Amino acid sequence: MIQHSHLLAEHAVRSDVVKAGDYYMEVVKAGQTIRILDIEGNQAADTLFYNAIDPSERYSAVDTIREQGNVYLTAGSTLLSNEGRAMLEIVADTCGRHDTVGGACATESNTVRYALEKKCMHACRDSWLLAVAQNEHFGMTKRDITHNINFFMNVPVTAEGGLTFEDGISGAGKYVELKAQMDVIVLVSNCPQLNNPCNAYNPTPIEILVWN
Ligand SMILES: [Zn+2]
Repeated sequence: MIQHSHLLAEHAVRSDVVKAGDYYMEVVKAGQTIRILDIEGNQAADTLFYNAIDPSERYSAVDTIREQGNVYLTAGSTLLSNEGRAMLEIVADTCGRHDTVGGACATESNTVRYALEKKCMHACRDSWLLAVAQNEHFGMTKRDITHNINFFMNVPVTAEGGLTFEDGISGAGKYVELKAQMDVIVLVSNCPQLNNPCNAYNPTPIEILVWN
Protein backbone atom coordinates (compact mmCIF):
# COMPACT_ATOMS: atom_id res chain seq x y z
CA MET A 1 0.00 0.00 0.00
CA ILE A 2 1.48 3.33 -1.06
CA GLN A 3 1.40 5.87 1.74
CA HIS A 4 3.37 9.12 1.55
CA SER A 5 4.95 10.84 4.55
CA HIS A 6 4.48 14.43 5.67
CA LEU A 7 7.86 14.54 7.46
CA LEU A 8 10.48 16.92 6.08
CA ALA A 9 14.13 15.91 5.85
CA GLU A 10 15.25 19.27 7.29
CA HIS A 11 13.37 18.49 10.55
CA ALA A 12 15.12 15.15 11.09
CA VAL A 13 17.19 14.92 14.29
CA ARG A 14 19.59 12.49 12.71
CA SER A 15 20.54 11.38 9.22
CA ASP A 16 23.17 8.94 8.03
CA VAL A 17 24.18 7.76 4.59
CA VAL A 18 25.06 4.06 4.70
CA LYS A 19 27.20 2.78 1.87
CA ALA A 20 26.56 -0.67 0.37
CA GLY A 21 28.45 -3.20 2.49
CA ASP A 22 28.26 -1.01 5.61
CA TYR A 23 25.93 -1.37 8.59
CA TYR A 24 23.82 0.96 10.76
CA MET A 25 23.27 0.10 14.41
CA GLU A 26 21.53 2.75 16.52
CA VAL A 27 18.77 3.05 19.11
CA VAL A 28 15.47 4.60 18.05
CA LYS A 29 13.30 5.71 20.98
CA ALA A 30 9.60 4.97 21.43
CA GLY A 31 7.65 7.63 19.55
CA GLN A 32 10.46 8.43 17.12
CA THR A 33 10.06 7.75 13.41
CA ILE A 34 12.79 6.24 11.24
CA ARG A 35 12.91 6.43 7.45
CA ILE A 36 15.01 4.18 5.24
CA LEU A 37 15.53 5.88 1.88
CA ASP A 38 16.56 3.99 -1.26
CA ILE A 39 18.66 6.82 -2.72
CA GLU A 40 19.43 5.44 -6.18
CA GLY A 41 16.82 2.67 -6.34
CA ASN A 42 16.84 -1.13 -6.47
CA GLN A 43 18.80 -1.54 -3.22
CA ALA A 44 18.07 -4.01 -0.38
CA ALA A 45 18.24 -2.97 3.29
CA ASP A 46 18.49 -6.15 5.40
CA THR A 47 17.15 -5.15 8.82
CA LEU A 48 16.80 -6.54 12.33
CA PHE A 49 15.05 -4.92 15.33
CA TYR A 50 15.64 -5.57 19.05
CA ASN A 51 14.14 -4.30 22.29
CA ALA A 52 16.84 -1.83 23.44
CA ILE A 53 16.25 -2.78 27.10
CA ASP A 54 16.48 -6.54 26.51
CA PRO A 55 17.76 -7.60 23.05
CA SER A 56 16.55 -11.18 23.61
CA GLU A 57 13.18 -9.73 22.62
CA ARG A 58 13.49 -9.08 18.87
CA TYR A 59 11.58 -8.83 15.62
CA SER A 60 9.73 -12.01 14.73
CA ALA A 61 8.78 -12.62 11.10
CA VAL A 62 6.67 -15.60 12.18
CA ASP A 63 4.48 -13.68 14.64
CA THR A 64 4.21 -10.65 12.34
CA ILE A 65 3.09 -12.67 9.29
CA ARG A 66 0.62 -14.77 11.28
CA GLU A 67 -1.07 -11.85 13.00
CA GLN A 68 -1.44 -9.68 9.87
CA GLY A 69 -2.32 -12.64 7.60
CA ASN A 70 0.03 -11.41 4.88
CA VAL A 71 3.56 -12.51 3.95
CA TYR A 72 4.53 -9.04 2.65
CA LEU A 73 5.12 -5.92 4.73
CA THR A 74 3.84 -2.45 3.83
CA ALA A 75 2.15 0.63 5.35
CA GLY A 76 -0.15 -0.53 8.12
CA SER A 77 2.00 -3.52 9.06
CA THR A 78 2.79 -3.81 12.76
CA LEU A 79 6.13 -5.48 13.40
CA LEU A 80 5.77 -7.88 16.32
CA SER A 81 8.42 -9.29 18.63
CA ASN A 82 8.96 -12.92 19.59
CA GLU A 83 6.91 -12.02 22.67
CA GLY A 84 4.01 -10.84 20.53
CA ARG A 85 4.44 -7.17 21.38
CA ALA A 86 4.31 -4.30 18.87
CA MET A 87 7.83 -3.01 18.17
CA LEU A 88 7.25 -0.66 15.24
CA GLU A 89 4.51 0.24 12.81
CA ILE A 90 5.12 0.98 9.14
CA VAL A 91 3.50 4.41 8.78
CA ALA A 92 4.62 5.35 5.27
CA ASP A 93 5.79 3.39 2.25
CA THR A 94 6.36 4.57 -1.32
CA CYS A 95 7.71 1.22 -2.51
CA GLY A 96 4.60 -0.80 -1.65
CA ARG A 97 5.94 -4.17 -0.58
CA HIS A 98 8.85 -5.57 1.41
CA ASP A 99 10.10 -9.11 1.98
CA THR A 100 10.52 -10.83 5.33
CA VAL A 101 10.77 -14.49 4.31
CA GLY A 102 13.79 -14.54 1.95
CA GLY A 103 16.42 -14.16 4.68
CA ALA A 104 19.70 -12.33 4.34
CA CYS A 105 22.65 -13.18 2.15
CA ALA A 106 25.46 -15.13 3.80
CA THR A 107 28.70 -16.60 2.50
CA GLU A 108 27.16 -20.06 2.96
CA SER A 109 24.01 -19.29 0.95
CA ASN A 110 26.09 -17.55 -1.74
CA THR A 111 28.11 -20.77 -2.05
CA VAL A 112 25.01 -22.97 -2.31
CA ARG A 113 23.02 -20.70 -4.61
CA TYR A 114 25.75 -19.44 -6.94
CA ALA A 115 29.23 -20.97 -6.88
CA LEU A 116 31.91 -22.23 -4.51
CA GLU A 117 34.21 -19.32 -5.30
CA LYS A 118 31.54 -16.89 -3.98
CA LYS A 119 32.44 -18.00 -0.44
CA CYS A 120 34.82 -15.08 0.10
CA MET A 121 32.36 -12.40 -1.08
CA HIS A 122 31.04 -9.91 1.48
CA ALA A 123 27.49 -10.73 2.60
CA CYS A 124 24.88 -9.14 4.90
CA ARG A 125 25.48 -11.68 7.66
CA ASP A 126 29.16 -10.57 7.80
CA SER A 127 28.05 -6.95 8.26
CA TRP A 128 25.72 -7.92 11.14
CA LEU A 129 28.44 -9.98 12.84
CA LEU A 130 30.84 -7.04 12.52
CA ALA A 131 28.16 -4.72 13.95
CA VAL A 132 27.53 -6.79 17.10
CA ALA A 133 31.30 -7.25 17.59
CA GLN A 134 32.00 -3.51 17.26
CA ASN A 135 29.05 -2.52 19.51
CA GLU A 136 29.69 -4.62 22.62
CA HIS A 137 27.65 -2.22 24.78
CA PHE A 138 24.46 -3.77 23.37
CA GLY A 139 25.53 -7.12 24.86
CA MET A 140 24.71 -9.07 21.72
CA THR A 141 26.51 -11.95 20.00
CA LYS A 142 26.06 -13.85 16.75
CA ARG A 143 23.36 -16.01 18.37
CA ASP A 144 21.19 -12.87 18.40
CA ILE A 145 21.24 -12.69 14.60
CA THR A 146 17.83 -14.10 13.63
CA HIS A 147 15.23 -13.60 10.92
CA ASN A 148 15.07 -10.21 9.29
CA ILE A 149 13.25 -7.87 6.96
CA ASN A 150 14.57 -7.10 3.49
CA PHE A 151 13.27 -3.60 2.87
CA PHE A 152 12.85 -2.81 -0.85
CA MET A 153 13.57 -6.40 -1.85
CA ASN A 154 11.23 -8.19 -4.24
CA VAL A 155 10.84 -11.87 -3.29
CA PRO A 156 7.51 -13.05 -4.69
CA VAL A 157 5.97 -16.14 -3.13
CA THR A 158 4.73 -18.43 -5.91
CA ALA A 159 1.38 -20.26 -5.95
CA GLU A 160 3.29 -23.45 -5.09
CA GLY A 161 4.80 -21.76 -2.02
CA GLY A 162 8.27 -21.26 -3.48
CA LEU A 163 10.41 -18.13 -3.38
CA THR A 164 12.00 -16.26 -6.26
CA PHE A 165 14.45 -13.35 -6.15
CA GLU A 166 13.26 -10.84 -8.71
CA ASP A 167 14.39 -7.50 -10.01
CA GLY A 168 13.43 -4.81 -7.50
CA ILE A 169 10.17 -2.88 -7.51
CA SER A 170 11.80 0.00 -5.67
CA GLY A 171 13.24 3.06 -7.39
CA ALA A 172 15.36 6.13 -6.72
CA GLY A 173 13.94 8.16 -3.83
CA LYS A 174 11.50 5.52 -2.58
CA TYR A 175 11.33 5.05 1.17
CA VAL A 176 9.73 3.20 4.03
CA GLU A 177 9.00 4.85 7.37
CA LEU A 178 8.44 3.21 10.75
CA LYS A 179 7.24 4.60 14.07
CA ALA A 180 8.79 2.92 17.10
CA GLN A 181 6.39 1.61 19.76
CA MET A 182 9.24 0.79 22.14
CA ASP A 183 12.93 1.74 22.37
CA VAL A 184 14.49 -0.38 19.62
CA ILE A 185 17.97 -1.17 18.37
CA VAL A 186 17.90 -0.87 14.58
CA LEU A 187 20.49 -3.01 12.82
CA VAL A 188 20.65 -2.58 9.04
CA SER A 189 23.04 -4.20 6.59
CA ASN A 190 23.03 -2.29 3.33
CA CYS A 191 23.31 -5.32 1.08
CA PRO A 192 26.56 -5.80 -0.91
CA GLN A 193 25.09 -8.75 -2.91
CA LEU A 194 26.39 -9.03 -6.51
CA ASN A 195 24.91 -12.40 -7.51
CA ASN A 196 21.15 -11.83 -7.65
CA PRO A 197 18.98 -9.03 -9.03
CA CYS A 198 17.80 -7.77 -5.61
CA ASN A 199 19.92 -4.65 -6.12
CA ALA A 200 20.29 -4.79 -9.90
CA TYR A 201 23.88 -6.16 -9.50
CA ASN A 202 24.86 -2.65 -8.46
CA PRO A 203 24.86 -2.05 -4.66
CA THR A 204 24.20 1.62 -3.86
CA PRO A 205 23.94 3.78 -0.70
CA ILE A 206 20.84 4.25 1.44
CA GLU A 207 20.02 7.09 3.82
CA ILE A 208 18.51 6.61 7.28
CA LEU A 209 16.71 9.55 8.92
CA VAL A 210 15.14 9.85 12.40
CA TRP A 211 12.48 12.32 13.61
CA ASN A 212 11.30 13.00 17.17
ZN1 LIG B 1 22.55 -9.09 1.50
